[in-house]
Amino acid sequence: MKLAARVNRIAPSPTLAMAATAKAMAAQGIDVIDFSTGEPDFDTPEPVKAAAEAAIRSGFTKYTPSSGIDELRGAIIEKLKTEQGLQYEKSQVLVSCGAKHSLYNLAEALLEAGDEIIIPTPYWVSYSDQALLNDATAVLLPTSEDDGYAIHPEALERRITARTKALIINSPCNPTGATYGRKMLEAIATIAVRHDLVVISDEIYEKVLYDGDAHVSIATLGPDIAARTVVINGVSKAYAMTGWRIGYAAGPKDLITAMGNIQSQSTSNPCSISQKAAVAALRFGEPFTKQMVAEFDRRRRVIVEGLNKIPGVSCRMPGGAFYAFPNIKGVLGKRGPTGPINNPTDLATYLLKDAHIAVVPGEPFGSPDHIRLSYATSMGTITRGIERLGTALKKLV
Ligand SMILES: *Cc1c(COP(=O)(O)O)cnc(C)c1O
Repeated sequence: MKLAARVNRIAPSPTLAMAATAKAMAAQGIDVIDFSTGEPDFDTPEPVKAAAEAAIRSGFTKYTPSSGIDELRGAIIEKLKTEQGLQYEKSQVLVSCGAKHSLYNLAEALLEAGDEIIIPTPYWVSYSDQALLNDATAVLLPTSEDDGYAIHPEALERRITARTKALIINSPCNPTGATYGRKMLEAIATIAVRHDLVVISDEIYEKVLYDGDAHVSIATLGPDIAARTVVINGVSKAYAMTGWRIGYAAGPKDLITAMGNIQSQSTSNPCSISQKAAVAALRFGEPFTKQMVAEFDRRRRVIVEGLNKIPGVSCRMPGGAFYAFPNIKGVLGKRGPTGPINNPTDLATYLLKDAHIAVVPGEPFGSPDHIRLSYATSMGTITRGIERLGTALKKLV
């Protein structure tokens, strides 16, 4: 069968693929240590479950308005106002089936053949594939571990052409854990305004921040940048609700309307029950999130310290999200029992087959020097896993 050309441009999500392999091995009874999964290991908080149950019992199980129920859009507007000081009207907020779906609707509404979108690397895997699916060109902007993956204004400007339509930023960042401070965001905002770019600000890890850091949304840095920013967020990461599939976009009315029209012709509304659950998460979820992030913080210190003790491995302390992103250049070029370890994928394959440790290699994130380990897993798994990783790497010669 002759398929559309666009399907040949993309690959299935490699993070989801690695997580599926690890789960399949575990199902066969293999003692797999899974650092690949990009979701909180906590159970969804009780008030959220109760709201979903109530929705089912009361028959709230039919189609809703395609762009989301007023109650949830209202709760999102309230959240953005009280937490970020941002002002939106209902017509500027679209609820979708996860933040990934919000981003996809946005790519479809904004991008076409000939358009360029700038993506700082290392980056979340779906940004570039979603651009490719919509015939646009992903222009990668490399950043460096040495300066905390900062975006340098000159480097950003060098990548802007007459075709550049948008820039994606993701702070805190998956996979690096880097966060963008106000000064850097101001520099980015100035450039975006000057070059008439849409800024897509993926703030899904906004609440997973450490060391008392406060989240800054680029949209708060003045009316000019607010008018061209689409804030993307959702309940998956902050409230351990990855399976419920609720994300949202807030931004310029014409763009949000277009995204809503696309959604009305593709998925229709996000799940009615999940929308009620998301209202409860936004209203009552804060204490849960605080506890979860405090536990992530403890694990973060343990995993980073453990990784830094392994010869050939060095790991920055992530400022947000729940991923360690160690540099493994020091072990590349060595040999394992089944062949050379020349890149992160070779290493991830060796670790999975030989040591039954699932990690995600850096290449799909745009890094040839790193692997990603999620610490959204138990402390016991982390300490056992790091020990096993050290032993496995010692076997390389
Ligand atoms: C998890 C994740 C998302 C999407 O989350 P949804 O479950 O689709 O809401 C978006 N961006 C980044 C960087 C993520 O890690």
